[in-house]
Amino acid sequence: MIALPHSVAEIGYLVASGCFIVGLKRLGSPATAVSGNQLSAWGMAIAIVVTLLAGNILEWWQIGLGLVLGGGIGLWMAKTVQMTGMPQMVAILNGFGGASSLLVGGAEFLKAELANQVIPTETGIVIQLSLLIGAVTLTGSVIAWAKLQEVMSGQAITYPLQKAINALLFVAITGLATYQITTPDAHLAPFYAVIGLSLVLGVLLVIPIGGADMPVVIALLNSYSGVAAAMTGFVINNHVLIIAGALVGSSGIILTRIMCKAMNRSLANVLFGAFGANAGALPGGKSAAGLTVRTVSPEDAAIQLAYAQSVIVVPGYGLAVAQAQHVVRELAELIEKNGGEVKYAIHPVAGRMPGHMNVLLAESNVPYDRLYDMDEINPQFDTCDVALVIGANDVVNPAARSDPASPIYGMPILDVDRARSIIVMKRGMSAGFAGIENELFYHPKTTMLFGDAKASLTKLVSEIKAL
Ligand code: NDP
Repeated sequence: MIALPHSVAEIGYLVASGCFIVGLKRLGSPATAVSGNQLSAWGMAIAIVVTLLAGNILEWWQIGLGLVLGGGIGLWMAKTVQMTGMPQMVAILNGFGGASSLLVGGAEFLKAELANQVIPTETGIVIQLSLLIGAVTLTGSVIAWAKLQEVMSGQAITYPLQKAINALLFVAITGLATYQITTPDAHLAPFYAVIGLSLVLGVLLVIPIGGADMPVVIALLNSYSGVAAAMTGFVINNHVLIIAGALVGSSGIILTRIMCKAMNRSLANVLFGAFGANAGALPGGKSAAGLTVRTVSPEDAAIQLAYAQSVIVVPGYGLAVAQAQHVVRELAELIEKNGGEVKYAIHPVAGRMPGHMNVLLAESNVPYDRLYDMDEINPQFDTCDVALVIGANDVVNPAARSDPASPIYGMPILDVDRARSIIVMKRGMSAGFAGIENELFYHPKTTMLFGDAKASLTKLVSEIKAL
């Protein structure tokens, strides 16, 4: 088969890179996100086809087998994953990205070693970086996946001298890599040691981080996987890999920053703060101060909602767990039919991944213009008749504003307690991911509608219909 000329392949890569950049830009708004995603997928398809046609490949049957196997597993994962399982899936895909960089970097090194070629210093550096970042991303992502999948405890695992041991490991890896780069006739031992120690480092870096912070870690690992891919792009001199890796690396770090800002925490606090080490469910019923909650029946809540002029829906993680996004839209339509206005208040870290609530509500065709960011909606709670909190907890916890001792103190929250009345829908009195009590539930303006969010919403819908 005739290989594609180099210049044509480079043009193909340029087109693919253009698709990635424009696609990424379009992901910035819910209205254009789907087409942005499709454009990026086309970019990837072009990059793959060009790479295959440009030559330098294995046997076609091996590629075909890989495509069928990998594509089949990917399709199965995408079709079967629950919305609540998305963070785990992203985590494991990041891990695969890291593994690819590790394998390609390692293969290039071994190829040169076997052919007795001297590896130029600059190539040696990017190979070692591919190995280090790829391996850390691989095992770090596997631990993140295991914590979220509850294969291992989500608690932060800490022990004495943890940071010092990690620092020592990093120094050892850097030393071995430097030795390998600067010593042309070095044996393979340092090469394997760099890989082995980097794999261990990935595990040790992620185990002290609590389950609540895993989404931030995943965004960070996503960034690492991009940097590892870019390094591999330098190793094999592939421009589209360098560009795509740089895009993933930078967007991952931007996302990490946004998430840290939304939780009012520094990245260092997320990585080394062992947040969530003591998190757990709270005993039900009474607050620490001895306050009790007031409950509301679906009938009374339905009357309150049906005659409200303005309702602000505050969705949280529980909405995703209950898969209640379709029923919530149905409820909103009924309220609107009765002359009320319904808005949705979106907190940037509501749920378990960035944009979690936007994705859920878009899935049930809630119009984008009804979704309001925190800064836009907060001033509107003062004039809102009913704030309907559905499976949200930490993102509406007033302790973030008022209690300097709270672990979430300083995190910007949705000012639900300023609404004229508040209905909170959750199953019991369990804590949110931060593992802390929420005084909002004991507020004189708050009533609790206990039960699975989807079941409660379905009852509300039939009650309003019956009015
Ligand atoms: P929370 O995790 O604070 O609370 C969710 C609540 O939903 C729980 O208290 C639970 O109470 C309730 N719930 C669970 N299942 C159901 C159900 N089937 N029906 C009704 N209610 C249910 O959620 P928030 O969205 O308020 O906050 C997100 C948290 O995750 C924050 O602490 C945030 O910092 C953290 N986080 C989020 C990230 C992101 O990117 N989105 C990133 C990192 C961290 P009960 O069991 O009693 O029903």
